[in-house]
Amino acid sequence: MGDLKTVKCVVWDLDNTLWQGTLVEDPEVVLVERIRSVVETLDARGILQSVASKNDHEPAWAALERLGLGEYLVLPQISWGPKSTAVRVIADRLNFAYDTVAFVDDLPNERAEVAFHLPDVRCYPAADAPGLPDRPEFQPTITVDSRRRRAMYQAGFHRERARETFAGTDEDFLRTLDIRMSIVQATEDQLARVEELTLRTSQMNATGVHYSAETLRGFLDDPGHEVFVISMSDRFGSHGAIGVVLLHRHREVWHLKLLATSCRVVSLGAGATLLRWLIDRSARAGAHLAADFRRTDRNRMMEVAYRFAGLTDEDCACVRAIGIAGRDGIEVLHIRPAPQPAPTTMTVEAPGLGGPVVSGATP
Ligand SMILES: [Zn+2]
Repeated sequence: MGDLKTVKCVVWDLDNTLWQGTLVEDPEVVLVERIRSVVETLDARGILQSVASKNDHEPAWAALERLGLGEYLVLPQISWGPKSTAVRVIADRLNFAYDTVAFVDDLPNERAEVAFHLPDVRCYPAADAPGLPDRPEFQPTITVDSRRRRAMYQAGFHRERARETFAGTDEDFLRTLDIRMSIVQATEDQLARVEELTLRTSQMNATGVHYSAETLRGFLDDPGHEVFVISMSDRFGSHGAIGVVLLHRHREVWHLKLLATSCRVVSLGAGATLLRWLIDRSARAGAHLAADFRRTDRNRMMEVAYRFAGLTDEDCACVRAIGIAGRDGIEVLHIRPAPQPAPTTMTVEAPGLGGPVVSGATP
């Protein structure tokens, strides 16, 4: 199957596709159990599902609720407009590339209309629906967040709506969210998600280095290294695991090998809060903080975050002492840290990092 991308969202037609029957002719449409099971299976794999249907919205949505399908669907598009428009709206709102979107419809002319305007969208006849979960493109890597992906997106839409109707400043809005950040040592079952974060966080990734689950597992076993997983939640729900920190603590200097956060939480100030936490903890440990940074064509935002937090190009003896200066393509940004005030827009729960520092000359 080569580089075939996996499907991130399935857009369903309703009449004679998701359910049997045509709603305008037969209000008692029925759901076959095989299709319900497909919907549940895709949902558990973290594949989002939506609707593009030519019907009146209210009766169609009422039927979906009656069949117990409403909760599985995000951004339903039920109107008399072209299906290609509906599919495009869904993909654009989700910020998904069209080749990660699937469209299922029993009518060949509807599939042709979508395929003509959106040639990258994968179109499937309704007869193929029962077998979709067996196809490789519907078998993504499952992580700890897959099962709650749909709930996270739904929470995101509620959050966006609340922001649109909030009259105050961004900071005032953040304070209304009751944001909680949790920083914990990674466990074995989180490694797949941590690896995914190192791959997918292009804009807020300090080095663009991909760490495999194997390498990360090695760090877990090495007392000199810390792998932290960062999760966030607010009053709308959980954001799941949104960031990763790889840290090597020496006595004189804490070496931040990687800081990466999901771009979904940039507007919540996740990166800046994490940096302040690291600066505060290194200050309290009496160590300097040195961070690897490698410029990529997408991570300018991360450099801004480091500079804004006070890290500079200062050539400090601590960096030379642990032998991390002068590596190919990697700059070291450095700060003589001072204790930081607690963040004003969120609560941070984190380990004390008060344990013994494992020192050593190896980076
Ligand atoms: Zn230093």
